[in-house]
Amino acid sequence: MKKKSQKPSTKVIARERIAILFAQAQRIYAEDPLLANRYVALARRISMRQRVRIDHEFRRRFCHHCYAYLVPGKNMRVRVHRGNVVVTCRACNKHSRYRIGRRHTTENPKENP
Ligand SMILES: [Zn+2]
Repeated sequence: MKKKSQKPSTKVIARERIAILFAQAQRIYAEDPLLANRYVALARRISMRQRVRIDHEFRRRFCHHCYAYLVPGKNMRVRVHRGNVVVTCRACNKHSRYRIGRRHTTENPKENP
């Protein structure tokens, strides 16, 4: 076992903070989309620093290319193509694909057609 400098509770707090940031981003988006993007950036920074994964319910709420906060029908296009969900970001016009019917999604942002 490797020695860990962090207490396990810091990861719990990090996950809570990420959830709060996404909730704030959702609320603020209509007024200030740029601030919503900033919340995404903060959530990502927390997840990287504390090495926690962003929950799958939040993972699809931002663009994995430009990290813009995405709202379906606003700056995000959702299509189903050959059993995959294809999400198009209107900010950078790139696509992200997700599998349908799997909770554990393998997302590869580098994989572009
Ligand atoms: Zn984007």
